[in-house]
Amino acid sequence: MITRYSLLVTRYSFEFFNSNFFVMLSFTRTLRFRLALWFMAVLGGAMVVLGALIYFGLQQALLNNVDITLRNAAVRSVIPSNNDAADDQLRRLSFISLAPSRLLSLDGTMLQFDAAFPVDLPIAPDLLGIIQAGNARFETQPLGSVAYRLYSAPVSVNDGVNNTRVAAVQVVQSLENEYTTLANMRRLFGILILVTLPLAGLGGWFLAGRALAPIEHVRRDVASIIGNADLSQRVSEGLPDDEVGKLARTFDGLLARIEGAMSRERQFTADASHELRSPLAALKGEISVALNRPRSAAEYRDTLSELETSVDDMTHVVEDLLTLARTNNDTKPADQPIEVVEMVMGVCDRMMVLAHEKSLELRVKLSADQPVVTGDRSQLTRVVTNLVDNAIRYTPAGGVVEVRVSRNVAHALVEVQDTGIGIAPEHAPHIFDRFYRTDSARSRENGGTGLGLAIAQAIMQRHGGDIGVASEVGVGTLFTVRLPLVADLTA
Ligand code: ATP
Ligand code: MG
Repeated sequence: MITRYSLLVTRYSFEFFNSNFFVMLSFTRTLRFRLALWFMAVLGGAMVVLGALIYFGLQQALLNNVDITLRNAAVRSVIPSNNDAADDQLRRLSFISLAPSRLLSLDGTMLQFDAAFPVDLPIAPDLLGIIQAGNARFETQPLGSVAYRLYSAPVSVNDGVNNTRVAAVQVVQSLENEYTTLANMRRLFGILILVTLPLAGLGGWFLAGRALAPIEHVRRDVASIIGNADLSQRVSEGLPDDEVGKLARTFDGLLARIEGAMSRERQFTADASHELRSPLAALKGEISVALNRPRSAAEYRDTLSELETSVDDMTHVVEDLLTLARTNNDTKPADQPIEVVEMVMGVCDRMMVLAHEKSLELRVKLSADQPVVTGDRSQLTRVVTNLVDNAIRYTPAGGVVEVRVSRNVAHALVEVQDTGIGIAPEHAPHIFDRFYRTDSARSRENGGTGLGLAIAQAIMQRHGGDIGVASEVGVGTLFTVRLPLVADLTA
């Protein structure tokens, strides 16, 4: 029997935990619920503090009122009489009971009392001492189920010469009414809190819902962007410029960057495969042609040497791509000290032959001081080589290419100026993009792949420097490289 019962309990409790009840309770984990709870708690706390202040203030005021009444009654209860039996000063007093009061001798004996005075009210042990010292006192004393406010004051007789303390008068008032008022007040506050708190909770729930609605809106938009994998969507549309709007706009910024990065990546892959596909197709064509009939040894040699050129081109592209991939990662470059003048001289020496072949004048102008930078020597050499190579490549015969080295306060400057074909303003913003060439036909004839400047820029970024261009079509182009100087040599 017990086993069956416990089996039953297990089954039902299992179903209970799986029921909608707990799913329903999941809303307790929401921010909205917590905000509503906070709202309720803060309002409840404020009401309790306010209630306590009002309650204790009222208690004090009621007690003060009672005290004033008691003191007035005490003053008017005992008045000197005309009985001038000088030996008994007590007889000179007449006791009028205006309120529940009594007259005590200085040793605590009850002399006279009003019928309404609760005579069982004990005399506090320290009271007679206080009275004899000429002081009055208020106290609250319980008797049975009732609390009494008691005022005790000394009574003195003046015989014209001396002021003699002869008795004590006590006036009392039951605090029943006051306590009832305070109890009503407590009940009222209790009811008020019980009614207001759930209302506050509902109000908080409503307000939090309204405040959080835009967040839910953003969440749904983001979820749909993830779901559709459509990075062109934006989430901040229609949102005001508040905290949520700012968050959404920040998120949009992130989306835009990811979208840009992804499209650049797509472009890069497409360009790279296109770049490799053309020489591969050429290779394949030449091989097919060579193989379609028997050839002489000399013909095979020619074909093979053409093939070698195509393979060299492809090797060049692949190497450039590898360089770019390596310079794009975030590792810090080596920090060898590099004498810029010496490096630039080395590059120009090597390029001189190329310039002569194209009937160009290659000039070098060096500043008196010797700027020193730190970085990866072979990479920085590559930047300057690329720029001089471009200048030579895009300057027609008879032109001049000038390379200058100088420095300003914080940077070493390398300028490469040519009198070449120039770059049209619409192309200028793109020449640092991978595979970008202003005129593909001309560049292809010149053999460029459009990676030189992209590599140069990636290298400059890694070295904390930058590279700028100023150009005019048909007049010439000026590339300026800025590299941070080694700190202790800048002075
Ligand atoms: P490579 O990858 O072999 O350097 P490339 O020279 O074509 O190929 P970049 O060096 O990146 O590629 O230059 C990009 C484009 O910018 C060039 O194709 C050319 O159109 C333009 N360009 C660069 N330098 C100059 C220059 N000094 N004068 C005119 N056009 C230039
Ligand atoms: Mg180039």
